[in-house]
Amino acid sequence: MKKEMPIYDVLIVGAGLSGLAAAQRIDQSGLNYCVLEAASRAGGKVDSGTNAEGKYWLELGAQFVNTDMTEMVRFIEASGMSLVKTHAQPNSVFLHAKTMEPVGDLIEAVDEDLLGDLESSDLSLSEVIEELTDTTEEAAVAKSFITEEATVDTDYMSAESYIDVSERYTSEQDDLTHQASGQLSQVIAYLVDNLKVPVHFSQPVRQVEKQGDHYEVTTESGDRYRAKGLLLAVPPTVASRLSLPEDLHAHFAPLLSSFVDGSVIKVTLSYDQSFWTAVELEEEKLPVEGIVFSRFQGLSISDSSKEGDTPRLTAFIGGDLAKDLAGQPASARQQFVLDRLHEVLGKEAAEYVDYRESIWVDHPFCGGGYSAQVHVDGIADAPEQLRQPFEKCVFASTELAEAFPGFMEGAARAGTFAAEQLIEQLA
Ligand SMILES: Cc1cc2nc3c(=O)[nH]c(=O)nc-3n(C[C@H](O)[C@H](O)[C@H](O)COP(=O)(O)OP(=O)(O)OC[C@H]3O[C@@H](n4cnc5c(N)ncnc54)[C@H](O)[C@@H]3O)c2cc1C
Repeated sequence: MKKEMPIYDVLIVGAGLSGLAAAQRIDQSGLNYCVLEAASRAGGKVDSGTNAEGKYWLELGAQFVNTDMTEMVRFIEASGMSLVKTHAQPNSVFLHAKTMEPVGDLIEAVDEDLLGDLESSDLSLSEVIEELTDTTEEAAVAKSFITEEATVDTDYMSAESYIDVSERYTSEQDDLTHQASGQLSQVIAYLVDNLKVPVHFSQPVRQVEKQGDHYEVTTESGDRYRAKGLLLAVPPTVASRLSLPEDLHAHFAPLLSSFVDGSVIKVTLSYDQSFWTAVELEEEKLPVEGIVFSRFQGLSISDSSKEGDTPRLTAFIGGDLAKDLAGQPASARQQFVLDRLHEVLGKEAAEYVDYRESIWVDHPFCGGGYSAQVHVDGIADAPEQLRQPFEKCVFASTELAEAFPGFMEGAARAGTFAAEQLIEQLA
């Protein structure tokens, strides 16, 4: 006899941090559920790897937290790790690659002005930055810095939405103050292992249909799953490619298509010595936190070392520059990064002991950057609208978080929030 397909209370699509945090909350509620993940591993943009020789680990995706990111701190500690300080100090400086002068004050001033009254709501972020800065060079520095942070070029980003995202960063601290003492994959393993049910891996969801009072989901392999409630824990750009039932599509499509994918390449180099840690400025030696390039929009190089570990530099390449470099041979990309390092740090930059890159550009399931952003023609409050369930379907991803969008913390909080909304709908 054919086995009847079970009807779960909740189907969670995606086992990144938002999906796993949602699953943890649904688990506690006593509802039954099933988690479907497209990849063969959980974690999404949290991905720990090793250096080329496999001798030590590094983070290919997310890496840094601060102590206001309380959900992540809780997960890190619950998974048996502790927080370790990075080399960034309160007096660390961000330098302009061209002049090697600090640019922290300029970037802060642009951010503060942006958060002031914005007269028109349909301008691109680059247009607003140009209005707020005195010279083309200042505008180029600010745009480059923000392009790296947002992983989308400022020409494409809605200024209003960028301000909304900035306002949701509810911390006075820098985002790079701490790291976990071990691999972040340990957090993911902890979350997966503590669920009452196993995650179904290699199950990319393709289509959602409505059958009476429940949803039926079909994966690439043709497997089908049914549930009363649906929690889509995937980035909005990725969700926009799912086939949804007519009424869900009509409600969600304009919101989901308001986002543009980010693009990022992360390159980590390790060294025997951190030769870059101090810069002589006005007879004072100040620790260098990072260097931003105005000639290459979206490129920053940061000190990614943490206390008691191998000294490291990371090149974060965001936006169109990342897209362009992703299309080039690996050797050309490496030469580009080494040339830029040489330009600002001299010949010692070539004495690295290890080089590892991770390319996220056009990732089919995670989006291509740290997060997606609302584009110029998009609905500026799409994140807020997407946070609300429609029927018994709700979205969760870092982009939608009430606090810390774009970060792991945002993903964890968005997952818990969405789960609570759905639990209420199903009660
Ligand atoms: C290079 C890089 C560096 C970063 N650095 C930091 C950092 O230092 N600090 C920080 O806090 N954050 C950082 N981030 C951002 C952080 O990683 C993300 O904000 C967060 O992990 C997003 O989690 P999420 O669950 O919202 O989405 P994702 O991690 O994208 O998870 C989505 C999940 O859904 C799955 N999925 C997608 N489509 C389907 C489908 N059709 N069917 C089934 N499953 C599907 C995906 O495979 C994935 O597992 C970084 C990101 C990158 C890429």
